[in-house]
Amino acid sequence: MKHTQKTRRHQQRTRTRQERQQKNWRNKTTRHHRNAEENRNLIFRLHKTIAHYFPQLFERLREIPECRTRPAYELVELLGAGLFLFVFKQGSRNAMNNDRDEPEFRRNYTRLFRLRLPHMDTVDDVLAVLDPEHPERLSVTLMQVILAKKTLRPFRLHGEWYRVVIDGTQVMTVQEGHCPHCLHRKLKNGTTQYFHNVVAAKLVCPNGFCLPLASVWLMNPEEYNKQDCEPKGWRRLAHTLQQSYPRLPMCIVADGLSPNAPFFQCCREYGHPVIRWYIGCGRLFCSGKAIRRRA
Ligand SMILES: [Zn+2]
Repeated sequence: MKHTQKTRRHQQRTRTRQERQQKNWRNKTTRHHRNAEENRNLIFRLHKTIAHYFPQLFERLREIPECRTRPAYELVELLGAGLFLFVFKQGSRNAMNNDRDEPEFRRNYTRLFRLRLPHMDTVDDVLAVLDPEHPERLSVTLMQVILAKKTLRPFRLHGEWYRVVIDGTQVMTVQEGHCPHCLHRKLKNGTTQYFHNVVAAKLVCPNGFCLPLASVWLMNPEEYNKQDCEPKGWRRLAHTLQQSYPRLPMCIVADGLSPNAPFFQCCREYGHPVIRWYIGCGRLFCSGKAIRRRA
C-alpha cells in the first residue's frame, strides 16, 4: 500500500516537471520567433533604437508650436514622417508615399509610433511655413542627450577630442528676388546665379557616424560691401557651437579653404585644435598615428 502511494507521488511529480518543461520550451520558442521577427523588421529595430537613445524624441516634437490654422494632422505626425523619410533613406517623397501604401508598413508604423502616416506633400507644405529654428533646436537637444549618455566617448581622438568636421554646402539655387538675403555670383555665360549656402559642423566617428552638431546659413544683410562668406559663417558657427556645447572638447577638421590666420585665431579663442583635411587622404581618420603625422 505504502509502496503504491510512493509510486503515485513520484509519477505525479514527474508529470508536473514534464509539463513545466514543455511550457518553458513553448514560451522560449515563441519569444525566440518574436525576437527574430522583430530583428528582421526595420521599423521594430528603429523603434528600439529610438526608445533607447532618444526616448523623449516625440515629446520634444510635440513641444514645437503650431504654425497652421486648420490642421488635419498633428504637427508631430507630419514632422515625424519628414524625419523618417531620411531615416528610411528614401530617395524621394514619392518613394515614401509608395511605402505608405503598403498595409504592413503602415500597420507597423502606426502600432509602434502611435502616429498616422501622412502624405508627404502635406509634410512639405508644413515644412515650408515652419520656423527652421525649431527643428535646429531639436537637433541640438538630441545631440546634447546622446553626448550626455557618453555613447560616443570611445570614438574620441586620443581619448580626448571629438572630431568635428566643418564645411560649407550649397543647398539650393533660387530665382532672382527669392529673398533679400540671397547670395549671388556671375557665371561664365554672363548670367547671375542666386543661391543659399549653409556652413555645418558634424561630429564624425571612425565607424562612419556623421552627426549634426550645428549649422548657420550664409545670408547677405540688407546693405553690404562684401557678400556673406564661409569664413564669416565659421565665426558665427564657432559661437553657436560654444553656446550649445560649452564643455565639449572638439578637434576641428577643415578643408583646404579654411586654414588662414582669422580661422586659426578663432579656433585658438575657443580652445580647439585643428586638423586640415587633405582631399583624397582617406587615411586621415584611420588612426591617431596617421593624424599626428598629417596634422
Ligand atoms: Zn533667398
